[in-house]
Amino acid sequence: MDLAKLTELAGPRWITIEATALAHNLKAVKALLAPSTRLLAVIKADAYGAGAVEVARIFLDAGADYLGVTTLAEGLELRRAGIAAPVLLMSPLLPEELPAAIAAGLTLTVSSRSGAEAIAAAAAATGHRARVHLKVETGLQRTGLEAAAVAPLAREILNWPGVELEGVYSHLAEAARPAAARRQMACFQQVLAELEEEHIAIPLRHICNSTGLLTHPEMHLDMVRTGTLLYGQFPYQAPRRGLALKDPWQFKARILFIHDVAAGTPVGYGGDYVVKKATRLAVIPVGYADGFALTAVARPKNLNDLARYLVKTFLAYLGRGGGEGTTVIIGGRTAPVVGRVGMQLSMVDVGHLPEVEVGQIVTLDIRRPTASSRLPRVYCREGHPYLVRTTTGELLPVDAPHLSPGVNS
Ligand SMILES: *Cc1c(COP(=O)(O)O)cnc(C)c1O
Repeated sequence: MDLAKLTELAGPRWITIEATALAHNLKAVKALLAPSTRLLAVIKADAYGAGAVEVARIFLDAGADYLGVTTLAEGLELRRAGIAAPVLLMSPLLPEELPAAIAAGLTLTVSSRSGAEAIAAAAAATGHRARVHLKVETGLQRTGLEAAAVAPLAREILNWPGVELEGVYSHLAEAARPAAARRQMACFQQVLAELEEEHIAIPLRHICNSTGLLTHPEMHLDMVRTGTLLYGQFPYQAPRRGLALKDPWQFKARILFIHDVAAGTPVGYGGDYVVKKATRLAVIPVGYADGFALTAVARPKNLNDLARYLVKTFLAYLGRGGGEGTTVIIGGRTAPVVGRVGMQLSMVDVGHLPEVEVGQIVTLDIRRPTASSRLPRVYCREGHPYLVRTTTGELLPVDAPHLSPGVNS
């Protein structure tokens, strides 16, 4: 196995992204849709951490019809990589950003009349046509046109030569709370009915995200926008609809150093972890700057949540489980992280694993939301690496014949 080649390209730690899992998820989601419903693959936030450019290619190959991102920079990154597919920018832009977005052929979101006018002006100035989707405010209270303003503005835009009105959409605040989602959908339906009454035909009407897609099949309309499902996760409390998703994501690091420590030795910053009996510690090149051992804390929603949070915090205070209970997997066995997790280096107790050696691969649990974008991504097909995105964002093909399977196992 040419682990040496992979380490040369990626360094001693990386995230593997299994392309076949992403393609599988996209096709499985598409199978839930009517043939006339299009699928917009959401690849915002660097494709939920998986790496936007290569993931865009994987999803397009697997049958995605549209791509969705939030910022202009995210859209331009795709165009610079030669991706010509339609891309919806799902947030309003500032006026200064409009010319570049229009010249790149990105689809813009209109959230206000003044925003629409700025787009028309920028389109005229650049000599390009701007393609737009109107965003309707139905209850998220983030960005969007008031429902009553949609049809009148749509009618006007139809007469603007530089602007092509392709879509109208809204976004659900909490798709899993049926009553609230239904209220939002009813509001959106009302807008669509008004447009129909006025004979304004808009080809792409869409409201569903992953949760909406699973909970409200009747609202798939012309297109659904999904992210979470494509990355192998089910949204909280949504029905599964027989969907079998695959997790494309694994975090790997190689052991840099191993040393013996005697009983009673304080370990790590602050010395607040003390080794109980003589053991061996392995050092791995991963720390909190990489998102390791960080926990997102949401406001507790009820007393149960609060109680669980307090118990966890109290156990951490008692020092139960070094690294706040974080573990890693080495050769199929579990090993605890001990001492405080450092910025980029952490220690693992491998006293119970005598065969562990320097260079060995460790699998860690760092999930998408907290994983640093500076960590290399290694794209694999059936476990065979074929492309590396380096810490500086370069995409380097891996010479596939030199690598054998196993680096992903
Ligand atoms: C993020 C986002 C989505 C996708 O949401 P998932 O729950 O990940 O499917 C859809 N639409 C908009 C506007 C978004 O911002």
